[in-house]
Amino acid sequence: MKELGIKVDGVSKTYKNLTAVDALSFEVEFGKCFGLLGPNGAGKSTMMHMIYGKCRRDNPQPGQINIFGYDPLDNGLAVRFLSGIVPQENNLDLELTVLQNLLMYAKFYGLKKKEAMVRIDELLAFMELTEKKEARIRELSGGMQRRLVISRALINSPKLLILDEPTTGLDPQVRQLIWDKLRMLKKEGITILLTTHYMEEAFQVCDDLMIMHNGRKVLMGNPAALIQENIEPFVLEVLNPEKLSIPTTRNNFRLEKTYSRLLLYSDDFKALSQMTFGFQTGEYLLRPANLEDLFLKTTGRNLNE
Ligand code: ADP
Repeated sequence: MKELGIKVDGVSKTYKNLTAVDALSFEVEFGKCFGLLGPNGAGKSTMMHMIYGKCRRDNPQPGQINIFGYDPLDNGLAVRFLSGIVPQENNLDLELTVLQNLLMYAKFYGLKKKEAMVRIDELLAFMELTEKKEARIRELSGGMQRRLVISRALINSPKLLILDEPTTGLDPQVRQLIWDKLRMLKKEGITILLTTHYMEEAFQVCDDLMIMHNGRKVLMGNPAALIQENIEPFVLEVLNPEKLSIPTTRNNFRLEKTYSRLLLYSDDFKALSQMTFGFQTGEYLLRPANLEDLFLKTTGRNLNE
């Protein structure tokens, strides 16, 4: 029988007239990474805040949340004690050093100084920040600050790591490094919940994900399986389509138009590649379909519009 770390069952959140989260349900097994993927305003952060008790779900209501045996509505503190939280903003104390920032958190979790120093050294080594231990936060790059916030979230050896947009605004190298670390944490048995609007991030680290739009579930499952089961495998992306004549009447393609691109989806790679013969380099991209394409197909919108 699978052991669940998170069970969310029919949960909603309404702000005045706006339903930010609309009857969502999902489960996350121990040691797995689950992603909430969707554009800005989809309701990802609101869902996540309800999980660790930062915001209350609509109540009275029939929905339930269970986090390692606790309902955050009644046991918010217990949920926070078993979780490590990486909020969207870094919220570090800029005047303090890396070590001082971490010690403050260790104290909050009741770690003794000696024990805390050992844990901090381990975490700084893990996040490749050892040489910055005595640096002030102001001296750190954005990527280093983000890695420090992740180290800080791990100080209490959490069962559950919750990350809100872990790599937004970071350069590709830091992003790759953070993805590597998340995969390593998963191997150690930590359950991970993250929100993201980067389909690549969701694809790289999530075992399962929920694609959200306007507070509702669009699709849920393993990222690779979702693509395999719900969309044609290949896409010809035509940039500046107004300059090109595309045979839109042929029925072995499915067409999508966005603001600046024309997308032709097909099972037939050969047929798509034959269409590129008249194109110049830079005018097209022939590639496998991805989660972004799936989002477009299901909602008619771009993920990062
Ligand atoms: P996401 O994390 O996917 O960008 P959010 O959960 O932040 O989405 O927001 C979902 C919707 O709820 C948005 O329309 C947002 O404006 C609204 N919202 C979020 N927090 C509040 C709040 N405290 N008061 C009113 N509306 C809010």
